[in-house]
Amino acid sequence: MVHPDNAGDGHAAERERMVVRQIEARGISDALVLAALRAVPREAFVPAGERAFAYEDHPLPIGAGQTISQPYIVALTTAGLGLRGGERVLEIGTGCGYAAAVLGQIAAEVHSVERIDALAEQARDNLARLGIANVHVHCADGSLGWPAAAPYDAIAVTAAGPEIPAALKAQLAPGGRIVMPVGDRHGHQVLLCWSLGADGREQVESLCDVRFVPLLGAQGFGA
Ligand code: SAH
Repeated sequence: MVHPDNAGDGHAAERERMVVRQIEARGISDALVLAALRAVPREAFVPAGERAFAYEDHPLPIGAGQTISQPYIVALTTAGLGLRGGERVLEIGTGCGYAAAVLGQIAAEVHSVERIDALAEQARDNLARLGIANVHVHCADGSLGWPAAAPYDAIAVTAAGPEIPAALKAQLAPGGRIVMPVGDRHGHQVLLCWSLGADGREQVESLCDVRFVPLLGAQGFGA
């Protein structure tokens, strides 16, 4: 959770405008998701040179050829997980840590896995500066999940793969959901919400057409 003293940053009006125009206006009404987006100072997760654009309606570069996702996509992914509060959540693709911080506002505990060491370090710094203590960043191949803390009530993947990795399905608790972009490496991808029905059959819902950076790794697009 962001300590309220740490979010008093002078960007509150911009953040409110972002939530109203980019998130609520597009139909996201989950109160926990909206409150989380209102609480996390997005400018604290973008490089200094991009801070003026922190609340714009698109992804931004964060270094190492990676991006911070568009706010709406973070909201859509989080809403898709159907969190009610208090869950244990896994995120794959920490980047700068913004989505992990949003998830950490709702969940009890978040484990987030990033393959690029410098980004994992940067994310840890960003989270620590805001006093967020329930988000744990690990540097590893997240296409294999993070078995050490499994099972998870929900899993968000913020890089696109050819399919949902079997390793992630195996680390999901009964009744849980996985939200992940699936499709071509650089082209057309769909944000999917995956779960197992009571009858044990896989259920897949398409949330939105998206464009994410590729999930590289053993159960992604390869190294
Ligand atoms: N969640 C971020 C989005 C980061 S972009 C946000 O809040 O904006 C996706 C990230 O996934 C990149 O940082 C990239 O390095 C990472 N990534 C790609 N393949 C990965 C893998 N196999 N394991 C962990 N991270 C991976």
